[in-house]
Amino acid sequence: MNFQIHRGTKEIGGSCVEIWTQSTRVVVDLGMPLVNPDKTQFDSKTIKNLSVNELIKRGTLPNIKGLYEKKGETALVLSHAHQDHFGFLKYVNETCRIYLGRATKKLIEITSIFTNQDWKISNLQHFESGVPFFIGDIEVTPYLMDHSAFDSYAFLIKANGKSLFYSGDFRIHGRKTKAFDWFSHNTERNVDYLLLEGTSIGRVDKYFPTESEIETEIVNTFKQSKGINLIYTSGQNIDRLVSIYRACKRTGKTLAIDFYIANILRELSEFGAIPYPSKSFPEIKVFFPYRLSRMISNKGQEMLLYRFKDYKITKEQIGEQVDKTVMIVRPSMLKDLEYVKGIENGIFIYSMWDGYKKDKTTKEFIDLLIGKGMTEKTIHTSGHADRAALKRMVEILKPKKLVPIHTFEGDEYQKIFTDSNVVRINDNEIVSIN
Ligand SMILES: [Zn+2]
Repeated sequence: MNFQIHRGTKEIGGSCVEIWTQSTRVVVDLGMPLVNPDKTQFDSKTIKNLSVNELIKRGTLPNIKGLYEKKGETALVLSHAHQDHFGFLKYVNETCRIYLGRATKKLIEITSIFTNQDWKISNLQHFESGVPFFIGDIEVTPYLMDHSAFDSYAFLIKANGKSLFYSGDFRIHGRKTKAFDWFSHNTERNVDYLLLEGTSIGRVDKYFPTESEIETEIVNTFKQSKGINLIYTSGQNIDRLVSIYRACKRTGKTLAIDFYIANILRELSEFGAIPYPSKSFPEIKVFFPYRLSRMISNKGQEMLLYRFKDYKITKEQIGEQVDKTVMIVRPSMLKDLEYVKGIENGIFIYSMWDGYKKDKTTKEFIDLLIGKGMTEKTIHTSGHADRAALKRMVEILKPKKLVPIHTFEGDEYQKIFTDSNVVRINDNEIVSIN
């Protein structure tokens, strides 16, 4: 068995690992980069009109046989619905087989509609956590992981008596810690290679609060506030949305979400105990941002709005009860917020990774809300493993070789995992496991 990390040995984002034997070729993840080679922010608009060949020539798209051309034999396995793991999906030929989780497919489809992308998944197969499947002579076992993306998986990959474990993105302090426990008792040990994510290694080595602790902090903030609470968080961070919903329920607040988040919660509710706008969850109301509503209607997807008409809350209604309302917002809603009266004395909770604040629109959005008299507060915990969690995975798998991936801090690994044999490899380097 051979493998090649196309991107990720020295950066976060653009994850892509190719694994092959004499007869089979599998690609795990096909992510969009977060940074350019000079570490500046990657902007997908700059590659909009480029062909597959041009993108490969520039080194943007991984050069992989049988993935982009018709009747290609290469299969794609996706770990989760974050764009730095699947964002180049649109270049994959429709005939290519794609293996992914059921909820991951739903998330990709919804994102595709709401962000005007062209992601198509036609030739697909779903997998189940802990159930091995074969692609040619390569055996893949997915393990459900706790991560800020719903339905995230790590993969044990075996062929010719050799094994490689891809950690994907994971943590142990969210709402799916049981998934990690299950993995720890059921996975194979002594794998030949562990490709271990290290997103948080460059950040300060401090305690990462659990999602339950985040919920408590949100409750305390709601209790103290006299005005509205606006929260900026990812519409796909289900753990966080659940924390916010539970905090609303505990403090008697109405939770106002827009119809984009409403659709996500509704679609994912079939995969777990997820609250969504319905008679069962009367605390949740739905608002319809003007521009987004118009865009979705123009696409002929009015159903995505109408399905929540019974749970509608207008901006005026929110303005009439600011002290009882929690509203989930994002920068594109700035115009809509002008119609909500009385937000001046409220609290703005920033509930995402701090790094996103560098984004110009995000910064302007926050500055404007503070300019209106809102108080800013950050309540957040990482979607990625802290050092203790990374060490736990290494202790469980006992890899013969440990390879840094999805990190800017590969040089730190040997200092952290002192008992492991850390092997640094480069992007595009071919490794044969013999
Ligand atoms: Zn992720």
